[in-house]
Amino acid sequence: MTDELARDIVADVVVVGAGPAGAATAYHLASLGVEVAVLDKATFPRDKICGDGLTPAAVHELVLMGMDTTGWTRNRGLTVIGGGHTVQMEWPDQKSLPGYGMTRARMSLDEELIRHGVARGARLYEGHMVTGAIQDVDGRVTGVTARVGRGASAHNVTARAKLVVEAGGVSARLATSMGLRANDRRPMGVAARTYFRSPRSNEEWMESHLELWSGEPGRSDLLPGYGWVFPMGDGTVNVGLGSVASTAHATALPYRQVFAEWTSHLPEEWGFTPENQVGPLRSAALPMSFNRKPHYVEGLVVVGDAGGMVSPFNGEGIAPALKAGRLAAAAIAQGLSRTTQAGLDRAMSAYPEQLRDEYGGYYSLGRIFVRLIENPKIMHLCTRYGLPIPRLMTLVHKLLSDGFERSGGDFDDRLITTLAKAVPKA
Ligand SMILES: Cc1cc2nc3c(=O)[nH]c(=O)nc-3n(C[C@H](O)[C@H](O)[C@H](O)COP(=O)(O)OP(=O)(O)OC[C@H]3O[C@@H](n4cnc5c(N)ncnc54)[C@H](O)[C@@H]3O)c2cc1C
Repeated sequence: MTDELARDIVADVVVVGAGPAGAATAYHLASLGVEVAVLDKATFPRDKICGDGLTPAAVHELVLMGMDTTGWTRNRGLTVIGGGHTVQMEWPDQKSLPGYGMTRARMSLDEELIRHGVARGARLYEGHMVTGAIQDVDGRVTGVTARVGRGASAHNVTARAKLVVEAGGVSARLATSMGLRANDRRPMGVAARTYFRSPRSNEEWMESHLELWSGEPGRSDLLPGYGWVFPMGDGTVNVGLGSVASTAHATALPYRQVFAEWTSHLPEEWGFTPENQVGPLRSAALPMSFNRKPHYVEGLVVVGDAGGMVSPFNGEGIAPALKAGRLAAAAIAQGLSRTTQAGLDRAMSAYPEQLRDEYGGYYSLGRIFVRLIENPKIMHLCTRYGLPIPRLMTLVHKLLSDGFERSGGDFDDRLITTLAKAVPKA
């Protein structure tokens, strides 16, 4: 145990979790001159179960963080396979979004993001497992307790701050301990992935399989869920499958069995065999449509998966996590400039408001989308009759990938924003 580990921590802001949400919050806070300490139970590099796919919306956020993405694997769009069709859709180059996406293994991405924040001045405390909140007599959060080390050398530290950011991912242990429970009536996904060495590693498209077949497509049984093949550009592909349900109770996918059956019938030349598999098949949950709220209460700011920010349209959580971190940091910097606690809270109210403006209506549309597609018959009809209509798919592509302009844009952008405004916000 070093002196550095044993010392209690004091900062303007304490961030719990150094995944994309925590790293983005820390980077933007440090850039704004705010003193920020980030605690993570892991030591980096560490893995995170993920498809490793970055849409243009995620690239947009990486640009705003000044990340150097030279050498990262880029892709030009999405191949969608279903209903007997294969459709390729380029990422459109738009006012606010680049015409390319990327893949980056989370083993690298997460370390690069948090080290980028550290280079800006954020302090990172690895191996710090946050165990609970420190609250004042009014219940307001003023810090956290954390356990450092294991076994006989384990000891506790405190980290005190004016604001605490919960960025601890889907488990959201801190927020949960403060009574912020997940809303079971919001969509929840479950997904599993592994890697294969494959000749497809350098392909330029991310691939989405809307139907999983137990044998020859169209002549065998339909398995539950959807799948993906994302080229990593390093000799491997990220292969996974998932399912989504409109409530947290309905998500039960026998993913090992389905994965084995699905991949055993894919073309042999893709190389998705046990001999080529790199690492185990592992699964995790995807909390969607703001299933945990409020995103600010009594000194606690909630960002990323902890706040249920995964898109119900495509299971993407990195872009919303990065964006939430940016919005939270801006509100926090304003809040800390106020001279009273009431003023700080008033400034902080901008954060949940902006999140609702950005995603509230969009995620409500997503809830309707999930209710439709969780019925396999409707999903089958949509893919069979929708996929071959190019005009429709241009719109659907923008809708599903959060690839629409929030202001201005073309007819499709305006249609999506109008629909998103017409529904109650999530
Ligand atoms: C199979 C699968 C595939 C996916 N594919 C994609 C994809 O292709 N693209 C995409 O955009 N999204 C994808 N997602 C979603 C994406 O992985 C998440 O939305 C994203 O990781 C959320 O980031 P986060 O920072 O909120 O949480 P996390 O990335 O989970 O980070 C949380 C951090 O908090 C730390 N932590 C947790 N508890 C504590 C504690 N008590 N004390 C200290 N530290 C703690 C953890 O160690 C971790 O570092 C996928 C998810 C799954 C399960």
